[in-house]
Amino acid sequence: MAQGDSVQKDLLERAAAVIPGGMYGHQSVGRLPDGYPQFFSRAEGARVWDADGKPYLDYMCGYGPNLLGYGHPSVNAAFVKQLEVADTLTGPTARMVEYAEAFVGMVSHAAWAMFCKNGTDATSMAMMTARAHTGRRKLILAKGAYHGAAPWCTPQRTGTTPSDREHQIFCVYNDIDSLNAAAAQAGDDLAAIFAAPIKHDAFVDQSDPDLAYARRAREICDQTGAVLIVDDVRAGFRLARDCSWSAIGVQPDLSSWGKCIANGHPISALLGAEHLRKAAAGIYVTGSYWYQAAPMAAGIETLRLIRETDYLEHTVRLGQRLRDGLAERADAAGFGFRQTGPVQMPLFLFDDDRDQRFGFAWCSHMLDQGVYMHPWHNMFLCAAMTDADIDLTLDAAERAFTQLRKEAPTLGPVPKMQFLVA
Ligand code: PMP
Repeated sequence: MAQGDSVQKDLLERAAAVIPGGMYGHQSVGRLPDGYPQFFSRAEGARVWDADGKPYLDYMCGYGPNLLGYGHPSVNAAFVKQLEVADTLTGPTARMVEYAEAFVGMVSHAAWAMFCKNGTDATSMAMMTARAHTGRRKLILAKGAYHGAAPWCTPQRTGTTPSDREHQIFCVYNDIDSLNAAAAQAGDDLAAIFAAPIKHDAFVDQSDPDLAYARRAREICDQTGAVLIVDDVRAGFRLARDCSWSAIGVQPDLSSWGKCIANGHPISALLGAEHLRKAAAGIYVTGSYWYQAAPMAAGIETLRLIRETDYLEHTVRLGQRLRDGLAERADAAGFGFRQTGPVQMPLFLFDDDRDQRFGFAWCSHMLDQGVYMHPWHNMFLCAAMTDADIDLTLDAAERAFTQLRKEAPTLGPVPKMQFLVA
């Protein structure tokens, strides 16, 4: 590396040679404002350090896995202790049964659990289980909802065929008429309704589930024998210590989990009701690393902390402080600044900003001040955040709004966001 160059720049150049596109998937910074670091070197609590050692207060939390704080001491101790004894073996350890028992004990609709690695594994298994149970083909999904990156659900169709998405019918989240129309179209071939627990799509305002919509989804499944699936991969344990729809009294038949269920250690899960046990036992799903014991040990400790600490109330309280403080500062600077989603999973969008020029500039100013935010994806608060972190964020935001007010008239279009305008 030449003197004066940054580690980041060097890594970007080397990655371009050996990693297709330099980086792929949701953690590629290609669609973020210029200057967002692609590579990181360290994390602790609520902070990440980029490859050059600059720290950020991280409102992305790894896109969800960091619930209790990066490197949580007792979670990592459980992981390391198990790793030293046994991890990937010829068969699972007792941790698998213990983790399943703990999970089933917390999620009220569930009688059983199966573990896998990624959220996509869990949603794909949910789809297979529903089809195995019903012997039917059609799935109802909400337009724009993300359920993973397998050929049947990846948002970018390159490399997939239309047949990968056969038997999918789309409705509009929270729109009962469109849900009814989708169910009518599926007729007697409806296998499942997939539901995001909240509308947490990228680029748009977030919304809570409408109670009547959630109840109607349940009712359609009860009437037709189809399976109701709540995809709790992103929101699981961030809204409740149970399946997210337990808060509105609607119980799914299956729920998919991932991201934070072992506070960042690699494991995901499908949970199901008693009547789906047989179908779940009949599908063939597996993976070389699915039965790793160390992430399960980390998961058992994470579930204990979820049950026994005030992590949830803490993130809600801090999230509310953040929301109120940002609203005040945005108002004072004269911006229409929409904060949607639960306060602990917020998304911010500026009014009259279809090509994100305000959002990009504001987030860049936050980043410069060491606060990592996202212009168009929901963010996450973690239990390691403190009141001092919220104060720091609000001070940074005040400066960012002031700067944006000055430069707003001169900001040009954001070329990489033009697809939103087209
Ligand atoms: N479902 C939802 C709701 C998600 O947010 C995600 C990940 N962003 C997935 C499924 C897929 O999870 P993974 O990336 O771990 O495969």
